[in-house]
Amino acid sequence: MFDKLKEECGVFGIFGHPEAANLTYLGLYALQHRGQESAGIAASDGARMRVSKGMGHVNDVFDSGALGNVHGSMAVGHVRYSTAGESRLANAQPIVVDSTHGELALCHNGNLVNAGEVKDALVREGAIFQTTTDSEVVVHLFARSKETTAETAVIDALTQVRGAFSFVMMTGDKLIGVRDPHGFRPLALGRLGDAWVMCSETCALDLIGARYERDVEPGEMVVASAAGLESRRPFAPARHSQCIFEHVYFSRPDSYVFGESVNEVRTEFGRRLARETGVPADVIVPIPDSGVCAAVGYAEASGIPMRMGLIRNHYVGRTFIQPQQSIRHFGVRVKLNPVKSILEGRRVVLVDDSIVRGTTSRKIVRMVRSAGAKEVHMRISCPPTISPCFYGVDTPRRSELIAATHTLDEIRRYLDADSVAYLSLDGLTGSVRDGSTKYCTSCYTGVYPVAFPRNESAYLQLALKLNPDGNPQAPSNPAPEQDGLAASAATALARGR
Ligand code: SF4
Repeated sequence: MFDKLKEECGVFGIFGHPEAANLTYLGLYALQHRGQESAGIAASDGARMRVSKGMGHVNDVFDSGALGNVHGSMAVGHVRYSTAGESRLANAQPIVVDSTHGELALCHNGNLVNAGEVKDALVREGAIFQTTTDSEVVVHLFARSKETTAETAVIDALTQVRGAFSFVMMTGDKLIGVRDPHGFRPLALGRLGDAWVMCSETCALDLIGARYERDVEPGEMVVASAAGLESRRPFAPARHSQCIFEHVYFSRPDSYVFGESVNEVRTEFGRRLARETGVPADVIVPIPDSGVCAAVGYAEASGIPMRMGLIRNHYVGRTFIQPQQSIRHFGVRVKLNPVKSILEGRRVVLVDDSIVRGTTSRKIVRMVRSAGAKEVHMRISCPPTISPCFYGVDTPRRSELIAATHTLDEIRRYLDADSVAYLSLDGLTGSVRDGSTKYCTSCYTGVYPVAFPRNESAYLQLALKLNPDGNPQAPSNPAPEQDGLAASAATALARGR
């Protein structure tokens, strides 16, 4: 319902604990925000791997029966939002296979940019694919590897793929965590007693009472086995390109990601945003929940009080049925409601973490105005999102990104705001350690650290523009269920495809 980029996936693995599957279930609960389409757990008792997976949220997929089927002292788990491949059960992970190297269970977060080429080559040689995911090519490369151990076969497979990967894998007797040499996606390492834990975010460690040890480094492979933990560096070094959007939006604020507190980084975004784009105002209002940390920082730096002028209904589930067109404008209001006593007669600064298409922001600005705000200023705690992501984040095509196709003033008019301002790129990268050298900022710059596949270049096309009066152009054949800008973009997409 909110206009946000979609999270990618969450991975979790644990070695050396008798309750491995149950702890993985809890870990996936903590990582649910990273993917809500499917969930799965595979566990091994040393003799055999068993897997249980399904479509939906973690608590939809696992009841005590489903969890009872997966047991052993080693387990891996996955929550998925489809960044590559369709949303269907066959694409749910872990992918579990048996090969000459023994059994392997694989959980992937990221996106392999050369998966299409590798898959074509494998298919020409007779390989049969069960899924439409990029992750499955790694399984095929693993099975075909001439290496003599499962561990070296994994390395052999991963040296043939490019792009973003944080994998947690399980062989017959080992748990493997590995990050691509650029380090796009996070992977944390923790301990629970004698057990080793690997997971996308530290909030999963917190939930099971594990201690955060450190991150798996970009290009590092860690292997937990009965012999302890071994670290290897099997890949050629590359420039680090950790995803800055993990700090902007994806990760939970209670996590440490890339070695820093997401809450502290997000709050610093807000402080810098206030210093760069401050405007006289009476109250700072976050868009819940995405704008809260940045609004705290903005209020702190500006000296203007922050109040919760928009209240989120946390009980709107996936089952909310869109009403008829005549009452569709309730769509955002069912999730957010303005607090008139805070907004009425006030100059309001609305703080959010990002704007993608602008459709929801426009509805929120209008809602705040209708609650009596005298002025509404929109402040965004990252730079304008102008380019799609090819590294494991579901981004609309460039044609749908409002900042890619419109000037700041056009965006302001579309949103019906008194002013709109974004955090600068320097402000963003200055808020994290080594921000200008170790982070990916491609969705703000259009400069990509790893080449994306040629057949994805359609993502870079431009869209129709807004009319000079700030109203969206009427599409020639508007889709009835879309509002103005989205319909314009959809029309442009239909023409461009
Ligand atoms: S393009 Fe944006 S979302 Fe994708 S990895 Fe880079 S910073 Fe993250």
